[in-house]
Amino acid sequence: MSAVLSDLLPREPDPRAGAALMAGGTALLACLALLVCAFLGLLPWQVAIQGTAGVATLVLLFYLMMRTGLNRRFRDPSLATEQTAAAILFLAYVMYHAAPVREALTLFFLLVMLFAVQRLSAARLAALSVLALLAYGTVLHLSYLRDQSAMDVKGALTQFAVLMIALPWFAAMGGYVNRLRARLSETNRSLEQAFGRMQELAARDELTGAYNRRFLMETMTREQARAARLGASCAVCLIDVDHFKTVNDTLGHPAGDEVLKRVAAVAARGLRAADVFGRFGGEEFLAVLPDTDRAGALLVAERIRAAVAAETQVTVTIGVAQSAKDDVAAVLARADQALYRGKAAGRNRVV
Ligand code: GH3
Ligand code: MG
Ligand code: MG
Repeated sequence: MSAVLSDLLPREPDPRAGAALMAGGTALLACLALLVCAFLGLLPWQVAIQGTAGVATLVLLFYLMMRTGLNRRFRDPSLATEQTAAAILFLAYVMYHAAPVREALTLFFLLVMLFAVQRLSAARLAALSVLALLAYGTVLHLSYLRDQSAMDVKGALTQFAVLMIALPWFAAMGGYVNRLRARLSETNRSLEQAFGRMQELAARDELTGAYNRRFLMETMTREQARAARLGASCAVCLIDVDHFKTVNDTLGHPAGDEVLKRVAAVAARGLRAADVFGRFGGEEFLAVLPDTDRAGALLVAERIRAAVAAETQVTVTIGVAQSAKDDVAAVLARADQALYRGKAAGRNRVV
């Protein structure tokens, strides 16, 4: 049996199963009340036991529907309406058989509705209130027909009137709770969006739109740790525009800015999706290449150099370094040394 059950149960159960179980726990507490009543002689043991068995069956049924995913075939997979209706009808059934404690049990109607308020629309709650009133009315009517002398008619009518006033309040309250919840999730969503946008902005360089130095350093630290863990390697290309001072001096600073944007766009185009490219500072750019060895990085660097030389009015010199068992600063220092040698050797080259 348990093997069959575990086959039926999907690996990721519906989170609503937990909520159903909680409602079920409350229902079983109500059964405890029934058993206490039976113990005190207020109602026949048979009714208390039947009631408990019925509740346990219903709870198990709903729980299994959630666990197996059967509930997803319903329009509202939380099955809140069905659970509430089942609880109301079952309560009415017990009330009919437990005449001495009928009045006390009406409190459970309110408890059941309180559960429903957290999950259902005002319209659904209104319909369930009507169902509860109809069920309770039927119980009173049938009890009266069964034994007119045993019934306190005035008391029963008062109880009915009280319920008639109290139950619609749940519908109103449910509407209010739902509006509150909708507003809350709307606020959450826009906060999440704003946060995402802020994170994006905080990682970008204003001029070129490429990633900024802070993000590049974070990426390098992360990638280097990952490479060390997996025994893989990670490479960086430090890209510096040649004679950029001259560009500024001859064309002016704003035109220099445009050249930087162009260089960033051309260089970034030559990279894979996993590579991270950004502006390291001034007229220097950095490409972080995860899972790349020195030979691979040299190829990428050469591609970038050639593209910049062909498509912009400037050239770049690129220093390549591969991560070893050292820290980010050491790798950057090696890339910088390579870059320096490239500059000394005449620029527009990869070292
Ligand atoms: P080298 O080939 O040795 O790299 O020569 P270089 O002129 O590129 O080197 P240097 O480091 O002396 O000059 C970099 C210049 O880049 C100086 C600086 O004014 C300019 N620069 C830095 N940031 C910006 C910027 O955001 N916009 C503009 N237009 N120029 C910038
Ligand atoms: Mg420089
Ligand atoms: Mg330069």
